Amino acid sequence: MSEEKKIPYKIYLEESEMPTQWYNVRADMKNKPAPLLNPATKEPMSFDDLRGVFCDELVRQELDNETAYFDIPAEIQDFYKMYRPSPLVRAYFLEKALDTPAKIYYKFEGNNTSGSHKLNSAIAQAYYAKQQGLKGVTTETGAGQWGTALSMACSYFDLDCKVYMVKVSYEQKPFRREVMRTYGASVTPSPSETTEVGRKILAEHPGTSGSLGCAISEAVEAAVSTEGYRYVLGSVLNQVLLHQSIIGLETKAALDKYGIKPDIIIGCAGGGSNLGGLISPFAGEMLRGEADYRIIAVEPASCPSLTRGRFAYDFCDTGMICPLAKMYTLGSGFIPSANHAGGLRYHGMSSVVSQLYHDHLMEAVSVEQTQVFKAAEQFARVEGTLPAPESSHAIRVAIDEALKCKETGEEKTIVFGLTGTGYFDMVAYQKYNDGVMTDYIPTDADLEPGFASLPDIDK
Ligand SMILES: *Cc1c(COP(=O)(O)O)cnc(C)c1O
Repeated sequence: MSEEKKIPYKIYLEESEMPTQWYNVRADMKNKPAPLLNPATKEPMSFDDLRGVFCDELVRQELDNETAYFDIPAEIQDFYKMYRPSPLVRAYFLEKALDTPAKIYYKFEGNNTSGSHKLNSAIAQAYYAKQQGLKGVTTETGAGQWGTALSMACSYFDLDCKVYMVKVSYEQKPFRREVMRTYGASVTPSPSETTEVGRKILAEHPGTSGSLGCAISEAVEAAVSTEGYRYVLGSVLNQVLLHQSIIGLETKAALDKYGIKPDIIIGCAGGGSNLGGLISPFAGEMLRGEADYRIIAVEPASCPSLTRGRFAYDFCDTGMICPLAKMYTLGSGFIPSANHAGGLRYHGMSSVVSQLYHDHLMEAVSVEQTQVFKAAEQFARVEGTLPAPESSHAIRVAIDEALKCKETGEEKTIVFGLTGTGYFDMVAYQKYNDGVMTDYIPTDADLEPGFASLPDIDK
């Protein structure tokens, strides 16, 4: 029996081996991510500035660049046990299909009803809202994964959950909407008549199908104007990356169990939360000078924040009401084309991921969507799981790297994040199957209006 055959198809951790603390990579960063700025004063946001919008404990986590480990409260650990530890799967079938000497592993986060990693942070955010004695939370959702995860988390803690869902998704993804309602959330198509900003947008643009930026503005307004409510966000923020570090900590523990050291770690990047979570413990080792890895962020060619964006202060939302974050961004005025990986259509990127990329701790590549779906199809056919379009960006690059190993004969170990399943994305698969999916790469001229929308902070 060869050495590698001893490694099981799925490496599971025992419940007793699950992480009991989240890891905050900011503690080990010499160049800390730049602070959030108040959009009115351009001064760093303080605890008091933020606590009207977010729960107190989440604000503390957001602002803490020094504490390396945060205890995971027992109730959150219990909830995690319903669907975690998630398996680290050895992609033996994919390796065979590619005829590569590379060893490929993926961390599968789609093993819960919401179908993605977003539940890891949703449950934490709902917990702290409940702890604070709040009545409920508001949020926006585009493709619907975050809204679904938050609905599940809120029903667990008996919190009200108001989701503003981009109108076009509300109409085109009725099944997502019904999952949220089944968990007790109220789902409002955005823009709506329920907020001032919604009414204003509807008056200016009657018949608009909505946008994420508009839904954010409505959710924030609903939170700050309703007693006992706060706003929650599913990606981009430091607190979300902290919660998502559970992905990387479990991955590292599973690899360590078998003495496996990865050479390449790959994740898809929308707002950067799954990628940041997956790589945090590994980046921490790099920052402390203990190990070296190649980390690759993968983004859609149609929304290339890292590979073609500017490293600058920008608004987190298109409505320009949220704090300013320093990040790789295409500008809050950038309107991405209709790429089918809805979860990756964000103009900016987590400040932590942006800083790590800026400091050359990771690489970034962009990929075109037909190539992404080709990889998704190949993966589904041999490994069984139907991947989310977002996750398939990471699959594409994992396959490309494995094929390079085939050429060179190198037995590299590749780990990638499989963030979710694609059952609600069958319209996209249908386009691919029918051969009518197109690739869109913005020209430099197409990117100009977005850059022109950047605020005058570090120009
Ligand atoms: C939301 C989502 C993403 C992208 O979000 P990040 O914050 O960049 O992780 C990736 N995959 C799936 C399945 C998602 O739902």
